[in-house]
Amino acid sequence: MLYDIIIIGGGIVGLATGLKIKEQKPELKIAILEKENELAKHQTGNNSGVIHSGLYYKPGSLKATNCIAGYHQLIQFCDEENIPYEITGKVVVATQKEQIPILNGIYERGLQNGLNGTRHITLDELKEYEPYCAGVAAIHVPQTGIVDYKQVALAYGEKFKKLGGEIFLEHEVKRTNSLKGYTVVQTNKQHFDTKLIINCGGLYSDKVAQMNQEEELDVKIIPFRGEYYKLKKEREYLVKNLIYPVPDPNFPFLGVHFTRMMKGGVEAGPNAVLAFKREGYKRSDVNLKELSETLAWPGFQKVAAKYWKTGFGEMYRSFSKAAFTKALQELIPDIQESDLVEGGAGVRAQACDRTGGLLDDFSIKENQYAINVLNAPSPAATSSLSIGQTVSELALKRF
Ligand SMILES: Cc1cc2nc3c(=O)[nH]c(=O)nc-3n(C[C@H](O)[C@H](O)[C@H](O)COP(=O)(O)OP(=O)(O)OC[C@H]3O[C@@H](n4cnc5c(N)ncnc54)[C@H](O)[C@@H]3O)c2cc1C
Repeated sequence: MLYDIIIIGGGIVGLATGLKIKEQKPELKIAILEKENELAKHQTGNNSGVIHSGLYYKPGSLKATNCIAGYHQLIQFCDEENIPYEITGKVVVATQKEQIPILNGIYERGLQNGLNGTRHITLDELKEYEPYCAGVAAIHVPQTGIVDYKQVALAYGEKFKKLGGEIFLEHEVKRTNSLKGYTVVQTNKQHFDTKLIINCGGLYSDKVAQMNQEEELDVKIIPFRGEYYKLKKEREYLVKNLIYPVPDPNFPFLGVHFTRMMKGGVEAGPNAVLAFKREGYKRSDVNLKELSETLAWPGFQKVAAKYWKTGFGEMYRSFSKAAFTKALQELIPDIQESDLVEGGAGVRAQACDRTGGLLDDFSIKENQYAINVLNAPSPAATSSLSIGQTVSELALKRF
C-alpha cells in the first residue's frame, strides 16, 4: 500500500503534524507509526505540564515564534475540545543578588516577545502570589498555564483519525530504504511504501534520521533525565501555582521549579542528569551501547568538560534527597525533606552537535525523502501545533 506520508513517532509533535496536514489536505493518505502500545508514552507523557508563555527564548528564534503561536493555538484547541487547562500565571524568583541581572534580562526578553502584563513585582506582592516563597527580586508572568499534555496529544490523535488518518501502534521502524522517488519503511511487523517520511522520533530522532540519509548525521540526541518529587497532600498549601528559579544562562534547562499539576498535586523538579539509557526513567536503567555512544560523541565530551560542575551538582541532588530539598529551600525555606515523596521522571531529548553545542533552538532538517525534526525539547509541547504547522507547510510544498 502506497502512503503519501508516513510519520514516525506518536508523541505530541508527530500527532500535531499529522493533524495539521490532514486539516489542510484531507485527501492525502497518512499514517503515524508508534513503537509503543500507546501514544504519548515518552516525553509527551512525562513532563511538567506547563503551558509556556515564550518568556525565555531569543526573540525571532524558532522556540520564541513557535511557542507564542503554539500557545494561542493550544488554548483554542483546548477550548474547542473541552480539555481542561488553567492560566495560573507564574513567578520567576531571584534568591541571590547576583541573579538579578539575569532576571532583568529574562524580563526584557519577555517584553521583546510581546508578553504584555509581565512585570517586576515587589516582595510584598510576591507574598500575595506565593505566601511561602522567599527571594530578593521577582517577576510575574500572567500568561503561563497548566494542562495535561497526554490528554492533549490523545485528542490530536482522535481528530487526526476522524479526518481519515491512520495510527499503527506497536510498529517500531527498523529501517528505511529510499529509491526512485519513494521509500520503503520497514517496521517489526510489516512494511509501508511512502512518498515522504516525517521523523518525529523524539529520543530516537537522530537514529531515525540516520536511516534516511547517507552521510553521517552531525547531531546526536543526549538523554537528560528529569526527576520529580511530589509535595505531600497536607503540605500542598506551600505552593499556590507555579514558582520558577532564575535559570543558569549557560544551561539549557529551566532549573527545579514548583508546579501545580492539572491532574492534581504539586510537583517539584525536574533536575537534569545524564540518563544512561535513552528511555531510562530510573537511576538504575543502563543501556551500555547507548551510553558508550553518548560518551564517545565528540560534542558530548566538550559539553561534559564545560558543564561538569553543574552536572555533578545535578547528579548529587539526584542521589541525595537532602541536597534536593536544600535546593528547593532556596525558593520555599519552610520545605522539609519529610514533605517530599518521590514522583515520576521524564527524559529530555536534547540534540548535541559534533562540536559540543547543545542545540538551543528547535531544529528541522529536510532531505529528498524526509523531513527530520531533530531537536524538539521544551517548550515543544506548548509549541506543538505551531511546529506541526511549520512541518506541514514544508511537507505540502511536495504535493
Ligand atoms: C521532564 C520534562 C519536562 C518538560 N516540561 C515541559 C513543559 O512543561 N512544557 C512544554 O511545553 N514542554 C515540556 N517538555 C518538553 C516536551 O515534553 C517535549 O518537547 C515534547 O513532548 C516532545 O514531543 P515529541 O513528540 O517530539 O517526543 P515524544 O513525546 O518523545 O514522542 C516521540 C515518539 O516517537 C516514538 N518513536 C521513537 N522511535 C521510534 C521508531 N523507531 N519507530 C516508531 N516510533 C518511534 C517514541 O516511542 C515516542 O512515542 C518537557 C520534557 C521533559 C522530558
